[in-house]
Amino acid sequence: MLDVIIIGGGIVGAAAAYELSRYALSVALLERENDVAMGATKANSAIIHAGYSPEPGSCMARLNAEGSRLAKELCGKLDVPHRQCGSLVAALSEPEIPVLERLLRNGRENGVPGVRILSRDAALDMEPNLGPDLAAALYAPSAMIVDPWEYTLALMETAIRNGVSFKPDHAVTGIRKIGGGYRLDTARGAFETRCVLNAAGLYSDDIHNMVAEPSFRIQPAKGEYCLLDKSEGARVSRVIFQCPTAAGKGVLIAPTIHGNLLVGPNSEPVRDRGDVSTGAEGTGFVMRTALKAVPDIDFRANIRHFAGIRARSDRGDFILEEAEGAKGFIDLAGIGSPGLSAAPAIAKTAAGLLENAGLALREKERFHDTRQRVRFASLTPAEKAALVARDPAYGRVVCRCETVTEGEVRDALRSPVPPPSINAVKRRCGAGSGRCQSGFCGPRVLDMLAEHYRRRPVEILQDGAGTFILTSEMGRNE
Ligand SMILES: Cc1cc2nc3c(=O)[nH]c(=O)nc-3n(C[C@H](O)[C@H](O)[C@H](O)COP(=O)(O)OP(=O)(O)OC[C@H]3O[C@@H](n4cnc5c(N)ncnc54)[C@H](O)[C@@H]3O)c2cc1C
Repeated sequence: MLDVIIIGGGIVGAAAAYELSRYALSVALLERENDVAMGATKANSAIIHAGYSPEPGSCMARLNAEGSRLAKELCGKLDVPHRQCGSLVAALSEPEIPVLERLLRNGRENGVPGVRILSRDAALDMEPNLGPDLAAALYAPSAMIVDPWEYTLALMETAIRNGVSFKPDHAVTGIRKIGGGYRLDTARGAFETRCVLNAAGLYSDDIHNMVAEPSFRIQPAKGEYCLLDKSEGARVSRVIFQCPTAAGKGVLIAPTIHGNLLVGPNSEPVRDRGDVSTGAEGTGFVMRTALKAVPDIDFRANIRHFAGIRARSDRGDFILEEAEGAKGFIDLAGIGSPGLSAAPAIAKTAAGLLENAGLALREKERFHDTRQRVRFASLTPAEKAALVARDPAYGRVVCRCETVTEGEVRDALRSPVPPPSINAVKRRCGAGSGRCQSGFCGPRVLDMLAEHYRRRPVEILQDGAGTFILTSEMGRNE
């Protein structure tokens, strides 16, 4: 019997796996998709929020502030691309200024460092592309942008190095109470465990209801985005929000950690929790709203639309608690925004809840807590030359848009969480994330996957299960 099973390999499950891997425990993470970060963690605004938005006193407020501080430390230690660029909330008329004052009070109560209101002129000095309607802005210097995919992978890889077992393609289909714990069913066999962390995101209410009376409901809300080419990447240097509405933080404009410009999201309730479609209505709203704050954005430079689904619950706050009548079964649910920011603090809370449930947390003598990978494009010419001389695979460029080399794709294939698909390679080393969106490197990456896994090209996936790209090989009708 295992000590802990974590259900769900998003940022919350991965952060919990990392946190628990410090202790002498047997831990497995079961994920229903073929990779980590396939739910909300795959498609979000990628911001480690400063923490002035959540209502003071809420669980979100406390964990946002603590999580942001921990996130910065973790990203540094585990070689995750991040940049503390700061954020501005733009009031686009005088009557909106009281909203900034409310956010400022929240920020001070929530312990957000350096948060303050800037005059119109001071804000324009920072961000000259803000539009003529600007009245004032709330500045939060601690906001950060991050690569959410690599953040999740870095946590999961480190957890695996410290002994956690990762099981992709393991959807939990049923849970039964057994003596001393739980038995979890998957199509690939059953697992027994003393404790469970329910980090199943959009499906966390279904998982909860397998062992306890319903006590919350997930209310999915979709957010659509426009991702723009690097030619627009310098349009703003900080994350630009507008004043929040009842639907949330609203449409933002942000530089991405890879140098693109991200614009979105809207917020639309959806019934189908798998509906990540995008359309003219949603992206049209996003574009029109963004132009109110930054009128010169050139949307002709759009390279991709995508959507993510928030897993907010009907309780309006994060739900971090032992389910009633289910000892050792801990819900980490209702993790809408700022879940990416709060994840490391959620993970520490989860460890505390497990301890309260009777699990002994004894620190291991050895805990591997560093990680590094080659990023060819960011090396100096001398470093590049030395690397290529040592290993010529780094001298063969696979992705021309982002200058990703064969050596980096190969490193990804040999990593502790090997990529199961072409998009998974993109999430690990950036091949395919540039202007041509994998038009050139896609076939080469497909070949490398086929060779590495000894599969035929027709068996290679674009992304999740069933997303085959090729139907037959030349000269062979299937
Ligand atoms: C549009 C949008 C914008 C956002 N922007 C930000 C932001 O800028 N900053 C911020 O802090 N937060 C943001 N968030 C919130 C943040 O993305 C989420 O809070 C966070 O990703 C939640 O992580 P998670 O691990 O709880 O959920 P998920 O990432 O959804 O992971 C849950 C996992 O559980 C798996 N799973 C489900 N059912 C089962 C099962 N039966 N068996 C096994 N596995 C299962 C899923 O496949 C999934 O991988 C945003 C969210 C959205 C949607």
